[in-house]
This record gives sequence, C-alpha cells and structure tokens, in this order.
Amino acid sequence: MINMPLDQIKERISQKTGLSEDEINQKIKAKLKQLPGLISEQGAAHIVANELKVKLFDIGEKLQIKNILSGMRNVDVVGKVLQKYELREFKTEKHAGKVANMLIGDDTGVIRVVLWHKQAELINQLKEGDIVKIRGGYVRDNQGRKEIHLSELSKLIINPPGVNVEVKPYEPPVAVRKSIADIKEDDVNVEILATIVQVFDINFFEVCPQCNKRVRLRDEGFLCPTHGKIEPEYNYVLNIYLDDGSDNIRTVFWRQQVEQLLSMDKSQIMVFKDDPSKFEPIKTELLGNIIKVIGRANKNQTFDRIELVVNQVDKSPDPDEEIKKLKEEVEKAVTQDKEANTTPIDTSQEAKHETQDNQDKAAQPPTQQEATLEEEDLENLDLDEELESIE
Ligand SMILES: [Zn+2]
Repeated sequence: MINMPLDQIKERISQKTGLSEDEINQKIKAKLKQLPGLISEQGAAHIVANELKVKLFDIGEKLQIKNILSGMRNVDVVGKVLQKYELREFKTEKHAGKVANMLIGDDTGVIRVVLWHKQAELINQLKEGDIVKIRGGYVRDNQGRKEIHLSELSKLIINPPGVNVEVKPYEPPVAVRKSIADIKEDDVNVEILATIVQVFDINFFEVCPQCNKRVRLRDEGFLCPTHGKIEPEYNYVLNIYLDDGSDNIRTVFWRQQVEQLLSMDKSQIMVFKDDPSKFEPIKTELLGNIIKVIGRANKNQTFDRIELVVNQVDKSPDPDEEIKKLKEEVEKAVTQDKEANTTPIDTSQEAKHETQDNQDKAAQPPTQQEATLEEEDLENLDLDEELESIE
C-alpha cells in the first residue's frame, strides 16, 4: 500500500479542484463522522479524493523525486547521477548475485537507486553527472529512507536524448541541537553538547585498500571478495559515552572522527593497535571534557539502544557561543509557551509542518558519513527477502 502523507493528499486535491484547505478539511471531517472509528484521517482523505475524482497518481505525469513514496510500483523517474558506488557481488545461503547503487537527484530532491543482478552491471557504464531514466522501478523503505529498486523487468536508460535535469542546489543541512534524552531513532542530523564519561579501546580492523571493504584472514591470506588477495589497510572505530545531564548515549567515532577527536593522524593512532596500553593516558585525558558532536542516530538492534554515529567533532566549543545558543533555546521555549496559551492550536498546521520537516530531511543529500556508512546499510538489507520480492 502506498503511504501518501495526508498533507500531500490535501495538496493534490487542492491543485486539481481549486478547493481551499479549509474546504478540504471540512470534507475530510465529514467523512470521518460518517465512518466513526473505521478510518484514519488519511483514509478519509483518500475517499474524499476519490469522490472528487482526483487521481492521486497520474500515469504519464512527470514524477518528481520528492513525491516518490514507499510502496509505489512501476515508477518512472528521471534524475541526474550524483554519486555512484561500486558494484558488489554477494553470496547468501539462498542467493548469489550482484548489487550496485547510486544517488540520483532532480530539482526537488535526492533518492537512492538500487540495481540488482544484470542491471547492477550498468553501473560501470555510468558516470556522475549522467542523466538516467528509470522505468518500472519499485519503491521500498530501508530504515526510514526511500529507495527505488530495479527488478529484472525494469529499464534503466542512460542519457536519453533531449532530456535535461536540473539538480536542487546543495544546502548543507543544519544540525538540530538536542538533549540526549530527546534524541529519536530517526534523527539524521543532531547536535549535542556533552561530557565524555567513558572511553573504550580503539577497535582496529582490516579493510581492502582498493574498495575499503572489510576483509578477513583466510588460509591464503586476506581476501577481498572483489579484489582477491590483498595486503590489508586498517580502519578503526572508537566508542565513547557522552552525558549531558538529561541522559547518556554511546557515540561512535569512525576513522576521520577519531583523528579529529584525538588531533592525531593515522600513523600516530596505529601505535595504539600494537600497544593498547599507550592509549590509557589518553583515555584519562579525554574523561570529563565537554565536547560538541554532530551525528545521526542509529538504532543498535542487538542491544536495543539508540547510538549516535558522529560525523563532526568540536573538541573545544566556544563558551560564549554556547551561552548564546542556550539563551535562544530558552527564549524560543518561552515564546512557544506564550503562543500556545494565547492562540488555539491548529493541529492541521502542526501536522503540516511535521510532514514538511520530514520531507526536507528526506530531500537532503547524504553527508559524507552516510556515504561511508553505505556499506553497513547494505549489510542491513535483508538480501534474501529482497531477492524473493524480485523473483
Ligand atoms: Zn576490495
């Protein structure tokens, strides 16, 4: 079932019929009254659209990336390749095959495209900046993010003649300052200011120097599934607990962020791999420091807890700036309080804002950190389930 947000249904009805938002809300309310407890507001909006003969999806109409919804099938869309990732081969108990993915964008947003098997090989013919036309894709939700998947029956046309795509200019996302206790599982860009209360040892692991994928030691040596026998490079990760008084959270620092946090380069950090005891005094030094980090929340399924994957570290936040921010937050809270007390709350408006927020989030290009995490994301995908749905 296609999950079209209420807000979008209303917008669509308004566009097609010229009815005002109030008029549409009236009709939805009336429908809810007719069928008390049987349908949601969204369901009622669907019925209203139907009665007004408003098609929520027009076949043949150009689909903008921001309007792509989970559950859509037979999706035709055009976009510009913003980023492409390497073709991967995989083997699970039931299946073996190839998968590749890329990010495409238009003037309304960015979305990930996942290519399977024969289609995946097309990634090698593509370069960033190419225009692609996708026909017959389907949209699925991968941990709150929409993705277009191509099945064997879908088509990918590279640089169709006469088609041009404008891309929405990149706007660096602004991180939202939060208390640790308020961090939600789907926060993609949240900033916290907190004290380091626990520091673990750095974990080192071997990766392929060519594709950065994790490699493991076999009898023959280190083997990369794509590049064969290789001399491994090292990547590392550091876990730290941060506490801001509201709660504490496990934060994950990957290579680049470890280097930022410790103000060290790779050669200096590699010393700790061979002699972990040399890291002990540094742990002690870190404890009690107040730092500012920006990252995205990640639900650790194994431990059923929310962690923060860091993509930016500020080791010495400017106290003046922090005080200013605090004051602003307080003022904002006070004004909101006042508004809440003097004007009736318009919930439809509130819902609208919320949806808009989510859409903006979805439209933001991924940060660098997300790009490096893409590997992990792929591993989270249930390949077997995915393949079953294709076949
Ligand atoms: Zn490799």
